Amino acid sequence: MMQVLPIQSGASTKEYLPHGRLIVLTGPSGVGKGTLMRSLLERHPELYYSVSVTTRSPRPGEINGKNYYFISRSKFEQLVAQGEFLEWAEFAGNYYGTPREAVLNQVKSGKLVVLEIELDGARQIRCSFPSAQSIFILPPSFEELERRIRGRAQDSEEAIAKRLQRAQAEIQAANEFDLQIVNDDLEIALSAIEAALFK
Ligand code: ADP
Ligand code: 5GP
Repeated sequence: MMQVLPIQSGASTKEYLPHGRLIVLTGPSGVGKGTLMRSLLERHPELYYSVSVTTRSPRPGEINGKNYYFISRSKFEQLVAQGEFLEWAEFAGNYYGTPREAVLNQVKSGKLVVLEIELDGARQIRCSFPSAQSIFILPPSFEELERRIRGRAQDSEEAIAKRLQRAQAEIQAANEFDLQIVNDDLEIALSAIEAALFK
Protein backbone atom coordinates (compact mmCIF):
# COMPACT_ATOMS: atom_id res chain seq x y z
CA MET A 1 0.00 0.00 0.00
CA MET A 2 1.37 3.41 -0.96
CA GLN A 3 2.19 5.49 2.10
CA VAL A 4 0.41 8.86 2.34
CA LEU A 5 2.59 11.44 4.05
CA PRO A 6 1.04 13.88 6.51
CA ILE A 7 1.17 17.55 5.52
CA GLN A 8 0.38 20.78 7.31
CA SER A 9 -2.43 22.97 5.99
CA GLY A 10 -1.33 25.16 3.12
CA ALA A 11 1.88 23.21 2.55
CA SER A 12 2.73 22.52 -1.07
CA THR A 13 3.73 18.88 -0.45
CA LYS A 14 2.29 16.68 -3.21
CA GLU A 15 0.24 13.73 -1.99
CA TYR A 16 -0.45 10.61 -3.96
CA LEU A 17 -3.97 9.25 -4.35
CA PRO A 18 -3.63 5.49 -4.74
CA HIS A 19 -7.23 4.69 -5.76
CA GLY A 20 -10.54 6.46 -6.02
CA ARG A 21 -10.99 10.09 -6.81
CA LEU A 22 -11.21 13.37 -5.01
CA ILE A 23 -13.63 16.03 -6.28
CA VAL A 24 -13.66 19.62 -5.01
CA LEU A 25 -16.81 21.71 -5.32
CA THR A 26 -16.14 25.36 -4.57
CA GLY A 27 -17.64 28.81 -5.19
CA PRO A 28 -18.96 31.73 -3.14
CA SER A 29 -21.23 31.23 -0.14
CA GLY A 30 -24.88 31.31 -1.20
CA VAL A 31 -24.24 30.21 -4.80
CA GLY A 32 -26.02 26.91 -4.14
CA LYS A 33 -23.17 24.45 -3.44
CA GLY A 34 -25.05 22.82 -0.56
CA THR A 35 -28.25 22.55 -2.59
CA LEU A 36 -26.36 20.99 -5.51
CA MET A 37 -24.56 18.59 -3.16
CA ARG A 38 -27.81 17.42 -1.57
CA SER A 39 -29.36 16.66 -4.97
CA LEU A 40 -26.18 14.98 -6.15
CA LEU A 41 -26.11 12.71 -3.09
CA GLU A 42 -29.78 11.82 -3.50
CA ARG A 43 -29.16 10.76 -7.08
CA HIS A 44 -25.80 9.10 -6.44
CA PRO A 45 -25.76 7.58 -2.94
CA GLU A 46 -22.48 5.82 -3.80
CA LEU A 47 -20.66 9.18 -3.51
CA TYR A 48 -18.91 9.93 -0.21
CA TYR A 49 -19.59 13.44 1.08
CA SER A 50 -16.97 14.64 3.51
CA VAL A 51 -18.60 16.20 6.59
CA SER A 52 -16.45 19.18 7.61
CA VAL A 53 -15.49 20.42 11.05
CA THR A 54 -16.37 24.04 11.93
CA THR A 55 -16.32 26.53 14.78
CA ARG A 56 -19.46 28.25 13.40
CA SER A 57 -22.64 27.90 15.47
CA PRO A 58 -25.25 25.53 14.03
CA ARG A 59 -28.01 27.16 11.96
CA PRO A 60 -31.59 26.16 12.83
CA GLY A 61 -32.09 22.56 11.74
CA GLU A 62 -28.40 21.73 11.30
CA ILE A 63 -27.35 18.47 12.92
CA ASN A 64 -23.95 17.76 14.49
CA GLY A 65 -22.23 15.00 12.53
CA LYS A 66 -24.53 15.37 9.51
CA ASN A 67 -24.10 18.96 8.31
CA TYR A 68 -20.88 19.67 10.20
CA TYR A 69 -19.01 18.60 13.30
CA PHE A 70 -19.44 21.71 15.46
CA ILE A 71 -16.48 22.27 17.80
CA SER A 72 -14.81 25.09 19.77
CA ARG A 73 -11.97 27.26 18.43
CA SER A 74 -9.49 25.84 20.93
CA LYS A 75 -10.36 22.25 19.93
CA PHE A 76 -10.06 23.20 16.24
CA GLU A 77 -6.62 24.74 16.81
CA GLN A 78 -5.56 21.57 18.62
CA LEU A 79 -6.66 19.43 15.64
CA VAL A 80 -4.73 21.75 13.27
CA ALA A 81 -1.59 21.30 15.40
CA GLN A 82 -2.07 17.52 15.27
CA GLY A 83 -2.24 17.60 11.45
CA GLU A 84 -5.79 16.21 11.47
CA PHE A 85 -6.99 18.30 8.51
CA LEU A 86 -6.49 17.69 4.81
CA GLU A 87 -7.09 21.42 4.40
CA TRP A 88 -8.54 24.13 6.59
CA ALA A 89 -9.32 27.85 6.35
CA GLU A 90 -10.86 30.75 8.23
CA PHE A 91 -14.02 32.02 6.55
CA ALA A 92 -16.19 34.94 7.74
CA GLY A 93 -14.74 34.71 11.25
CA ASN A 94 -14.97 30.92 11.70
CA TYR A 95 -12.69 27.97 11.04
CA TYR A 96 -13.64 25.18 8.62
CA GLY A 97 -11.65 22.01 7.93
CA THR A 98 -11.77 18.66 6.15
CA PRO A 99 -10.99 15.60 8.31
CA ARG A 100 -7.87 14.02 6.82
CA GLU A 101 -8.15 10.38 7.84
CA ALA A 102 -11.80 9.78 6.92
CA VAL A 103 -11.36 11.27 3.45
CA LEU A 104 -8.12 9.46 2.63
CA ASN A 105 -9.57 6.14 3.81
CA GLN A 106 -12.58 6.57 1.52
CA VAL A 107 -10.39 7.55 -1.44
CA LYS A 108 -8.13 4.55 -0.81
CA SER A 109 -11.13 2.22 -0.73
CA GLY A 110 -11.97 3.40 -4.25
CA LYS A 111 -14.79 5.82 -3.45
CA LEU A 112 -15.55 9.01 -5.32
CA VAL A 113 -15.14 11.58 -2.55
CA VAL A 114 -16.65 15.06 -2.79
CA LEU A 115 -15.50 18.07 -0.75
CA GLU A 116 -17.70 21.17 -0.67
CA ILE A 117 -15.34 23.90 0.51
CA GLU A 118 -14.42 27.59 0.12
CA LEU A 119 -11.66 29.08 -2.02
CA ASP A 120 -8.59 28.88 0.28
CA GLY A 121 -9.26 25.25 1.08
CA ALA A 122 -9.91 24.41 -2.57
CA ARG A 123 -6.56 25.97 -3.45
CA GLN A 124 -4.83 23.87 -0.77
CA ILE A 125 -6.36 20.68 -2.18
CA ARG A 126 -5.35 21.62 -5.73
CA CYS A 127 -1.83 22.11 -4.47
CA SER A 128 -1.57 18.92 -2.36
CA PHE A 129 -3.55 16.69 -4.72
CA PRO A 130 -2.93 17.81 -8.31
CA SER A 131 -4.99 14.84 -9.53
CA ALA A 132 -8.13 16.08 -7.72
CA GLN A 133 -10.86 17.35 -10.02
CA SER A 134 -12.07 20.87 -9.15
CA ILE A 135 -15.35 22.52 -10.04
CA PHE A 136 -16.16 26.19 -9.41
CA ILE A 137 -19.84 27.11 -9.11
CA LEU A 138 -20.71 30.63 -10.31
CA PRO A 139 -23.89 32.64 -9.67
CA PRO A 140 -25.83 33.98 -12.69
CA SER A 141 -25.10 37.49 -11.33
CA PHE A 142 -23.85 39.16 -8.15
CA GLU A 143 -27.36 40.53 -7.50
CA GLU A 144 -28.78 36.99 -7.62
CA LEU A 145 -26.04 35.79 -5.23
CA GLU A 146 -27.05 38.49 -2.73
CA ARG A 147 -30.73 37.52 -3.16
CA ARG A 148 -29.88 33.88 -2.42
CA ILE A 149 -27.81 34.66 0.67
CA ARG A 150 -30.56 36.92 2.01
CA GLY A 151 -33.29 34.51 0.90
CA ARG A 152 -31.69 31.75 2.94
CA ALA A 153 -32.46 34.03 5.92
CA GLN A 154 -30.16 32.16 8.25
CA ASP A 155 -27.22 34.53 8.68
CA SER A 156 -26.91 37.79 10.61
CA GLU A 157 -26.48 41.07 8.68
CA GLU A 158 -22.82 41.05 9.70
CA ALA A 159 -22.32 37.49 8.42
CA ILE A 160 -24.10 38.35 5.14
CA ALA A 161 -21.85 41.42 4.63
CA LYS A 162 -18.71 39.32 5.22
CA ARG A 163 -19.89 36.66 2.78
CA LEU A 164 -20.71 39.20 0.06
CA GLN A 165 -17.38 41.00 0.48
CA ARG A 166 -15.53 37.71 0.21
CA ALA A 167 -17.63 36.58 -2.78
CA GLN A 168 -16.18 39.33 -5.02
CA ALA A 169 -12.63 37.97 -4.64
CA GLU A 170 -13.78 34.35 -4.83
CA ILE A 171 -15.56 34.81 -8.16
CA GLN A 172 -12.39 36.30 -9.66
CA ALA A 173 -10.57 33.05 -8.85
CA ALA A 174 -13.01 30.87 -10.84
CA ASN A 175 -10.56 30.30 -13.69
CA GLU A 176 -8.03 28.61 -11.39
CA PHE A 177 -10.27 25.55 -11.35
CA ASP A 178 -10.78 22.76 -13.91
CA LEU A 179 -14.39 23.56 -14.67
CA GLN A 180 -16.76 26.51 -14.16
CA ILE A 181 -20.49 25.88 -13.92
CA VAL A 182 -23.13 28.62 -13.59
CA ASN A 183 -25.88 27.67 -11.14
CA ASP A 184 -28.77 29.47 -12.80
CA ASP A 185 -31.18 26.62 -13.48
CA LEU A 186 -30.50 23.97 -10.81
CA GLU A 187 -31.24 21.00 -13.09
CA ILE A 188 -28.88 22.25 -15.80
CA ALA A 189 -26.11 22.89 -13.27
CA LEU A 190 -26.62 19.42 -11.78
CA SER A 191 -26.42 17.76 -15.18
CA ALA A 192 -23.16 19.62 -15.89
CA ILE A 193 -21.67 18.37 -12.60
CA GLU A 194 -22.84 14.82 -13.32
CA ALA A 195 -21.31 14.97 -16.78
CA ALA A 196 -17.96 15.99 -15.27
CA LEU A 197 -18.06 13.34 -12.53
CA PHE A 198 -19.28 10.38 -14.54
CA LYS A 199 -17.85 11.07 -17.99
P1 ADP B 1 -24.08 27.54 -0.46
O1 ADP B 1 -24.06 26.13 0.07
O2 ADP B 1 -23.25 27.73 -1.68
O3 ADP B 1 -23.80 28.57 0.61
P2 ADP B 1 -26.99 27.13 -0.56
O4 ADP B 1 -27.08 25.77 -1.17
O5 ADP B 1 -27.26 27.26 0.91
O6 ADP B 1 -25.59 27.84 -0.95
O7 ADP B 1 -28.01 28.05 -1.39
C1 ADP B 1 -28.29 29.39 -1.02
C2 ADP B 1 -29.76 29.70 -1.36
O8 ADP B 1 -29.92 29.72 -2.78
C3 ADP B 1 -30.73 28.68 -0.81
O9 ADP B 1 -31.89 29.35 -0.32
C4 ADP B 1 -31.09 27.83 -2.04
O10 ADP B 1 -32.39 27.29 -1.96
C5 ADP B 1 -30.98 28.84 -3.18
N1 ADP B 1 -30.59 28.25 -4.47
C6 ADP B 1 -29.65 27.31 -4.72
N2 ADP B 1 -29.57 27.02 -6.04
C7 ADP B 1 -30.49 27.80 -6.65
C8 ADP B 1 -30.90 27.97 -8.03
N3 ADP B 1 -30.34 27.30 -9.05
N4 ADP B 1 -31.86 28.88 -8.30
C9 ADP B 1 -32.44 29.58 -7.28
N5 ADP B 1 -32.12 29.47 -5.97
C10 ADP B 1 -31.16 28.59 -5.65
P1 5GP C 1 -21.36 27.99 5.73
O1 5GP C 1 -21.03 28.72 7.00
O2 5GP C 1 -22.23 28.84 4.82
O3 5GP C 1 -21.90 26.61 5.99
O4 5GP C 1 -19.98 27.77 4.95
C1 5GP C 1 -19.18 28.86 4.64
C2 5GP C 1 -18.19 28.44 3.59
O5 5GP C 1 -17.29 27.48 4.14
C3 5GP C 1 -18.84 27.77 2.36
O6 5GP C 1 -18.26 28.34 1.20
C4 5GP C 1 -18.46 26.32 2.52
O7 5GP C 1 -18.31 25.67 1.26
C5 5GP C 1 -17.12 26.43 3.20
N1 5GP C 1 -16.70 25.20 3.89
C6 5GP C 1 -17.45 24.23 4.45
N2 5GP C 1 -16.69 23.25 4.94
C7 5GP C 1 -15.40 23.58 4.67
C8 5GP C 1 -14.14 22.94 4.91
O8 5GP C 1 -14.03 21.85 5.45
N3 5GP C 1 -13.04 23.60 4.49
C9 5GP C 1 -13.09 24.80 3.86
N4 5GP C 1 -11.94 25.36 3.47
N5 5GP C 1 -14.26 25.42 3.61
C10 5GP C 1 -15.40 24.83 4.00
